[in-house]
Parts: sequence; C-alpha cells; structure tokens
Amino acid sequence: MSVASSVTLIAPFDEGVPGPEHFQITQSTVPPPEGEGSIQVKLTGLAADPFLRGRFKTTNVPVYAPGATISGFVVGKVVTSNNNANWKEGDIFGSMMEFTTVQNFTAAQLEKILIWKLTDFIAESELDLGLSILGMPGATAYGGVVDVLRPKEGETIWISAAAGSVGTMTGLLAKHLYNCKTIGSCGGPEKCELIKTKFGYDHAIDYKAGGSKEELKAALKAIAPKGIDMYYENVGGAHFEAAFESLAPRGRIAVCGGISMYNDKDMKPVSINPMTMVYTSQRIEGFISFTYLTAQREAFLKTMHGLLREGKLVPQDTVFEGIDSFGEAMRTIFTSKNIGKVVVHV
Ligand code: NAP
Repeated sequence: MSVASSVTLIAPFDEGVPGPEHFQITQSTVPPPEGEGSIQVKLTGLAADPFLRGRFKTTNVPVYAPGATISGFVVGKVVTSNNNANWKEGDIFGSMMEFTTVQNFTAAQLEKILIWKLTDFIAESELDLGLSILGMPGATAYGGVVDVLRPKEGETIWISAAAGSVGTMTGLLAKHLYNCKTIGSCGGPEKCELIKTKFGYDHAIDYKAGGSKEELKAALKAIAPKGIDMYYENVGGAHFEAAFESLAPRGRIAVCGGISMYNDKDMKPVSINPMTMVYTSQRIEGFISFTYLTAQREAFLKTMHGLLREGKLVPQDTVFEGIDSFGEAMRTIFTSKNIGKVVVHV
C-alpha cells in the first residue's frame, strides 16, 4: 500500500481570490495496481493555473461537490508497470488528472486520459518543464503565436500578462521565431524591467501605473504609432478594448484568456464595434491549449524542446514546496506575486 495526498475543494465559491481557506488536503491509501497493462504513477508537481478558478464556481459544468478532489495539470513518473506496452517504470510524463499524489490506471483508463511522455525530452531532474515549456502553458504559447496569430517577420505584437507563465514564453517565441517588435504589459516596474531583459520584449507597459483603455491606447500609440499587428489576449476588459482600438489593418487578436475577470461572479462583456473589422480585414480568434496537447502535440513538443535546448526559451517558475501550499500558490496568481509558472512540488 502507498499513502497518497489529495487536494480537495472545501466548497465551490463564485467570487473572490482563491487561497488556503478554500482547500483541504486529505490522505488515502492506494493498493498496488492490478491487471496486465496497469500502472501506478507518483506525481512530483502540480500546476496552479488561472483556468482552475472557473472550475471552482457553482456555474462550472459539472460543479465540484464540496470536498471533491480537484483535477488539473501535473507532472510525475511511473513507479510500477504491469507490462504496459507504452509505459515502463521510470517513464516521466505530463498529464491532466486528479491532484492525488499516487494513482493507479488500467490500460483502458490510460487510453482515455490526457497524458504525454516526456522521457525522450528531459531528465527527471527537469520534470517541472512538463508544467511549463513542455506542458499546458507551453502548448498555449506555441498555439497562440504559431497557429493562431501566424506573425510575419518584423510585425508588432502586444502580449498582456507578459510576466506570467504564458507571457514569458510568447514574448520569446515572437522574438526568436518571427523577429517581431514585442510589447509586453504587466504589473509594476520590476516585472517591466525583467520582461525586457529576459523574456524577449522590446517594450514594456506597466498597466498598474495606467490600466484604463485610454491609458493603454496612449502607451501603445507611443510605441507603435501605426497600430499593432497582433494582440495576444490574456487579461480582458480594458486591455482587450485598447487592443481592438489600436489594431492595424489585417490585425489579429488571439483570445487566450481574461484573468482580470476570473474572480467575478459575472464576467462583464467588453464593448467593441465589429464593423471596424470589415474593410480592415481584421480577425479575432479564440483557441484552447488542448489542440496542441493532442492533435498537434508532436509539432508543439518538437518546436518548444528545440528552442529550449538552443537557449531561446528560458524556464521561469515560482515554486512552492509541499502539497499544503496549493492554496497559497493559487492566491499568488491573482495577486501579481508570481513570475512565470506557479509550480507546487508534492
Ligand atoms: P499566470 O502565470 O498564472 O500569471 C497570471 C498573471 O496575470 C499574474 O502573474 C498577474 O501578473 C496577471 N494578472 C492577475 N490578475 C490580473 C488583473 N486583474 N489584471 C491584469 N493582470 C492580472 O498565468 P498564465 O498561466 O500565463 O495564464 C495567462 C492567461 O492565459 C490567463 O488568462 C489564462 O486563463 C490563459 N490561459 C489560456 C489557455 C487556453 O487554453 N486558452 C491556457 C493557459 C492559460 P501582473 O503582475 O502582470 O499583474
């Protein structure tokens, strides 16, 4: 028998910043896996992700029952394999599964879950990369830039939440793959300096010093007088409206997320006039990371791994030690305390 710890949600809540008061850690025992092809996995890290906030609401489908174990993105290794053809002991992986540190899967269950092998890409000591560059945020950065925005050499791109997990990678992708003129926005002068020195940004806008639509538009105009060619949307609200009204002809917006609204019960819609898109042939497109973790996984992993090994992508994590710190890790995201990926070692 192995002892497992799980992160459970005390009860769904519609408003406010998540924190330690919303989660409980429970213990259970896990028997050895049974049956040909079954495996046992041990998790080494959990991701604190903005999208989880939506899952904690009473409006989520299906809504979590009070005390339910939550699911999200994890990394880990296979500790037992009963002759599974695809998974051997010692294999390392990224996955979306329950936040339970030890779990068994039958061969049939493994067919149905989102899990990708990292053994051929990284060493066990680098497993956190499976939560960032070679994980869900990496797939998001890759998909949004390469597949959705499709930059042309030298175009101008604005990326919001630029010091977060996705934003630190999108800046580098836009710079190294397309030599874009890169503008990042984030909170505070230290983060603004950091994204310029480390994450491929030519210009930084401190939205905390001026985050209204008009202030953001003025900041963009000073950097890109003819307008921006692309906007990678992570924040929502005034950020989106400013981007829309600053978009050049044939401009594109990739809608990745809207973190400024996640702690609100009702997410307020933005106000735009879509008729301005007609003669300018502009485009707004939403997308989801799963596309690049499933159908386009091979291209995503190959590209991101290659850039990582060339030193063109820079790992950046904010790390918490111990499963008990999950609530604190979640709070960090919504209080601007993190830089890069928020990882919880378990
Ligand atoms: P992250 O690393 O957790 O960082 C989030 C950052 O957002 C924070 O560090 C904070 O930085 C900023 N932020 C928080 N509240 C804000 C507010 N009210 N206004 C402006 N900025 C705020 O986030 P991430 O994983 O990179 O995710 C970024 C966005 O991408 C989120 O919207 C997320 O939901 C979305 N996403 C979408 C997909 C998809 O499949 N479409 C996948 C992954 C992520 P500052 O210091 O700058 O405030």
